[in-house]
Amino acid sequence: MSSLKIAIQKSGRLNEKSVELLKNCGLTFENYKSSLISSVSNFPLEILFLRDDDIPEYVQDGIADLGIVGENVISETGVNVHFLQRLGFGKCTLKIAIPNESELVQINDLEGRAIATSYPNILKKYLSDNQINATIRTISGSVEISPGLGLSDAICDIVSTGGTLKSNGLKPFADVMSSEAILIGKNGIEKEEAVKELMQRIQSVLKAKE
Ligand code: ATP
Ligand code: ZN
Repeated sequence: MSSLKIAIQKSGRLNEKSVELLKNCGLTFENYKSSLISSVSNFPLEILFLRDDDIPEYVQDGIADLGIVGENVISETGVNVHFLQRLGFGKCTLKIAIPNESELVQINDLEGRAIATSYPNILKKYLSDNQINATIRTISGSVEISPGLGLSDAICDIVSTGGTLKSNGLKPFADVMSSEAILIGKNGIEKEEAVKELMQRIQSVLKAKE
């Protein structure tokens, strides 16, 4: 029987918890930091270590059968994949934030303003749901410095503790989406016996944590 492939983040905020979850499922594997792939010795599974942004498409295209990635990344890439299980870690909220001294009061005040983000698709949908016309400035990192540079009136970014906002003179303005790590699969993979077995193990691990 050929192995299933699961894609997890190579390094970053979801890596450690993803590895821990798989180990708690009784899977034995080497957590090679330098290699892209690791075989599980006691289950028909291979682990691919990837950038989180690449995971949804790898799963959609079937290069990986399963993946662990933040809901925010799934929504932003707009892929067609199967949601198998919420995993309870990597919790965060995508928020719009504004400078402390901003005169904006309600979300409609964003009309005609510029908002910097690394999540243009999610933001676009949020603005259109709220019938707001604003300019979206897509930047790939350090979004929170953009208002200070005069590049935007607001930002839309991931917030977990709010510390980064604070240290950049910003305050939360509106919640756009909440997110946590999710186990996704390519469509139809949920019918595979090995996937059912793995899901059962994951659910027991999550239950034991409650
Ligand atoms: P990669 O190198 O894999 O592209 P990255 O820098 O894009 O990594 P990380 O910062 O490691 O991503 O975040 C991975 C995921 O962790 C996010 O997409 C989000 O779902 C979740 N997350 C939880 N808390 C936070 C936070 N405070 N800031 C950013 N992401 C967070
Ligand atoms: Zn990323």
